[in-house]
Amino acid sequence: MYETALRLLEKISNYGYVAYMVGGYPRDLYLKRTFTDIDICTDATPMELHQIFSEVVTTNSEYGSVTVVFEKIKFEITTFRKEFKYKDHRRPEKIEYVDTLEEDIKRRDFTINTLCIDKDGKQIDLIGAKQDLDNKIIRTVGNPKQSLKEDALRILRAIRFAATLNFTIEPKLKTYIKKYGYLLKKISKDRKKDELDLIFSSPNKAYGIELLIDLKLTEHLEIPNLKKAKITPSMIVTWAQLDALDKYNFNTIEKESIRKINEVKDKELLDNHTLYNYGLYTCTMAAELNGVDKKLLNEKYAKIPIKSRLDIAITPMEICDLLNKKAGSFLKTILSDLENQLLDGKLNNDKEELINYIIENYQN
Ligand code: ATP
Ligand code: MG
Repeated sequence: MYETALRLLEKISNYGYVAYMVGGYPRDLYLKRTFTDIDICTDATPMELHQIFSEVVTTNSEYGSVTVVFEKIKFEITTFRKEFKYKDHRRPEKIEYVDTLEEDIKRRDFTINTLCIDKDGKQIDLIGAKQDLDNKIIRTVGNPKQSLKEDALRILRAIRFAATLNFTIEPKLKTYIKKYGYLLKKISKDRKKDELDLIFSSPNKAYGIELLIDLKLTEHLEIPNLKKAKITPSMIVTWAQLDALDKYNFNTIEKESIRKINEVKDKELLDNHTLYNYGLYTCTMAAELNGVDKKLLNEKYAKIPIKSRLDIAITPMEICDLLNKKAGSFLKTILSDLENQLLDGKLNNDKEELINYIIENYQN
């Protein structure tokens, strides 16, 4: 990935422009952490990038960025710019391209996100990113008050980076986070949820949650229950305790998991019926809340006689043949009875035994 990125920078420079890797990638490389995507910044405009790269996937010219696929890897390339007249404390109303990296760095959020790498693999550190990375400190590029007022999402980004990197937030920035937390109301739900997801799934989530509480953000984020939430490893278990289904947009799987975790959390998790009805995933999530040992839960689940209706040793067709009947609602009654008998250990999942039981109880 790194070599490909260097070749991409080289290619842009062959057209007479400059380009650097910036943001998360140089930061995580310096910290020897794993990384995902590579962000590139350059003085070439989106239109000029179109001429350089055959495979431009999307263009977000309004914000001066394009996504290109280069040697099968996707890169987000953003033209050096400055932003001004922030609308709603989130989106700049207008952007303007600028000529130099120095100016582009000024519009970025935190010093730790300003380290760059040039086409020769050389680090470019214009405003002391490495020093702050060494000191594990999160500090805004400019004045923290103005920075947060310009874009209140930075409040959550600061906490997200503090949690994921296990860094401290500079005291002055903390003060302004407290003061301007109310501006989060103006930020889109989805942007906020993305950051909260990252905080709730970080290995230092307890620290991230503590910051959200100490910096008085839970009310502004409409998650007051965070204060009494039990801190467990899974992100979805944290969300399940926050009563936030009507506050944020969750995908179908998340919604279903949250609903089921809340339904099952007060039930006896080690019971065969609970394990069968809710499945191992939901029960494991609920176990984080009610303290049931996950290993025990796994063992118990491995031993339940059936995991679904398909495991019953006789099929609905065979039951119809046996009783000489056409399929009908009676099947539901019999199958549900069989499930209960099997889960209660009153019947073995053995075809002969099930046939005898059905004849005895359902043949008229
Ligand atoms: P990640 O590891 O999550 O990708 P990242 O630092 O690369 O972290 P991105 O959201 O990919 O974060 O953004 C890339 C870079 O763009 C950031 O490092 C930062 O320099 C700049 N940036 C992103 N969001 C903002 C913002 N809200 N305000 C100012 N600069 C931002
Ligand atoms: Mg990134």
